[in-house]
Amino acid sequence: MHKKLFIPGPVEVKPQVLARMASPMIGHRGQEASALQLSISEKLKTLFFTREEILLSTSSGSGLMEGAIRSCTAKRAAVFSVGAFGQRWYEMAQRNNVLADIFAVEWGQATTPEAVDQVLATGKYDLITITHNETSTGLMNPVKDIAAVLKNYPEVVYCLDAISSMGGTKIEVDELGVDICITSTQKALGLPPGLAICSFSQKARTRAEEVPHRGYYLDLLELYNYICKNNYQYPSTPSLSHMFALDYQLDLILQEGLEARFNRHKDMAAYVREWAREYFALFPHPDFLSDTLTAIKNTRHIDFAGLNRELGARGMQISNGYGALKGSTFRIAHMAETTVPEIKDLLQNINEILGL
Ligand SMILES: *Cc1c(COP(=O)(O)O)cnc(C)c1O
Repeated sequence: MHKKLFIPGPVEVKPQVLARMASPMIGHRGQEASALQLSISEKLKTLFFTREEILLSTSSGSGLMEGAIRSCTAKRAAVFSVGAFGQRWYEMAQRNNVLADIFAVEWGQATTPEAVDQVLATGKYDLITITHNETSTGLMNPVKDIAAVLKNYPEVVYCLDAISSMGGTKIEVDELGVDICITSTQKALGLPPGLAICSFSQKARTRAEEVPHRGYYLDLLELYNYICKNNYQYPSTPSLSHMFALDYQLDLILQEGLEARFNRHKDMAAYVREWAREYFALFPHPDFLSDTLTAIKNTRHIDFAGLNRELGARGMQISNGYGALKGSTFRIAHMAETTVPEIKDLLQNINEILGL
């Protein structure tokens, strides 16, 4: 039996979107490929609230995270970490020989604008990374407040990991001053895994020009230059199957309406939080709760694996805690195409199984 996924990626994909993955192939050097890419780019600019260029990478989101920090750090990167995915960005810097420092807070806490200000005031850094929505802790960082601080540091390239939030919550990339905003297809965008997407600003491009060793496959400037010179075609063969599905899914997203889509995510989040507060407790700081997933403290010491097995028999799956939080929390994703009635049904089933 297929289990409906309430995990923070991969997510449920609409059957008609999945079907687009089976579209017949086209040449990746023809007009059709250019038109497909252009169509995707235009729609993504609307979703990202950006005028900057959009880049696709046939990799998961981690590919563009690695590409961004490597391509655009000339001096030193400040990595702000609030959980597992901030930590990952720091490791990427280290393994690529990119000078970086990590500024980590206790899991469940947010990156504060004050912390960002303090670190950047040293003048040591020319790039920062922020996790918008930390999937390991269910926390959404205060990016508007952080943006206000960043206005004072125009030389700093701002990389934002919006992998588990883009498509589920409003992220006004240009307004926030984000230079490279990164997401993956398999989370709030509601597609199969395999493609990564980012915006790439003029400031980021100028910076990348100063960086001699940007790698090859994940050199963001090379991707940008290539699509500009070659009518929106990519240097290596992209996953055209994902592109067909993405183009179509973006139509569905825009048809739903961005505000309606973001509100649906807020409504699902409110419902899960209320349930979690009643029967368990929320893990992250209450001022920074994510709209796309909820991390719940296992205050009742339930046998999580047993619960998920029972849910599986009923055709549903939720997620255990991430990394260090594996045993003490569990997570319910409410992203992409999931609806409020589906969330209610899931929680009803959990209550039945646990006898709550
Ligand atoms: C899933 C996730 C990643 C990793 O993305 P992949 O597409 O699996 O490489 C990075 N950051 C966050 C916040 C995520 O949720």
